[in-house]
Amino acid sequence: MQNRLKDRVALVTGASSGIGEATALALADQGAKVAIAARRKDRLDDLAKKLAEKGAEPLVLVADLSHEAEAQRIVKETEARYGRLDILINNAGVMYLEPIAEADLGRWRRMLELNVLSLIASTQAALAGMRERRDGHIVNISSVAGRVANPNSAAYAATKFGVVGFSEALRREVFKDNIRVSVIEPGMVDTELRDHVSHETTKKAVDALAGGMRQLQSQDIADTILFCVTRPDYVCINEVLLRPTDQE
Ligand code: NDP
Repeated sequence: MQNRLKDRVALVTGASSGIGEATALALADQGAKVAIAARRKDRLDDLAKKLAEKGAEPLVLVADLSHEAEAQRIVKETEARYGRLDILINNAGVMYLEPIAEADLGRWRRMLELNVLSLIASTQAALAGMRERRDGHIVNISSVAGRVANPNSAAYAATKFGVVGFSEALRREVFKDNIRVSVIEPGMVDTELRDHVSHETTKKAVDALAGGMRQLQSQDIADTILFCVTRPDYVCINEVLLRPTDQE
């Protein structure tokens, strides 16, 4: 079935690779107009060409979303371009894994700013328009690390548990405005995310774990998001936890 998102406007953060890129394409396949945000302009431009071929009238937003003002700006620019924002996919994230005792707190602060604060800021910016139209869907990408905390992933887990808690409180604040909130919690997905890990022994352990299983693909997460945002508007999928079959 095509065109289930005809006339809908979506903004996908972290769209220059992995889950965000696959999600932008999946939304476009269903007829949505799609704005895409991240730092790497070349990757966004390549994606924009593919989106344009699908008729998605893409808007490229180059932004460092670790700054909350940038997270707010991309929402405002999306609304200015299309006149509305219906679907906000808060996906941009980094994963810095290392033992607490050796952690670089500056790096962890940047992760908290991007994975949590920026997601809060873009959400806050989107609420006014969604409330006015009594229509909107916010999809926040957490992780299995938002449900199970492992050693050497303390701060990453803190960000992803944070996203789960924020999403549930948000849902309860906005459901009466006909705004839906979904939180997605993927297990291991085959993307560039593990490249962020610079702590050597942790990187080896995570690579070994990934190498020993059939990982999820970005398309699997895009399909899940698409399922959530194409339900009739009286249905709100609150939370989806999905793991590779091979992941404990
Ligand atoms: P990728 O590394 O492929 O994607 C991360 C995206 O975030 C990129 O588009 C990147 O773009 C963007 N990003 C990173 N830093 C910034 C920044 N400062 N400002 C703006 N954008 C930024 O990994 P995934 O696709 O896997 O990750 C997407 C989300 O999925 C993340 O939130 C991650 O935590 C989550 N997730 C991933 C899992 C996995 O196993 N891969 C499992 C569970 C959750 P750019 O560098 O161009 O700025």
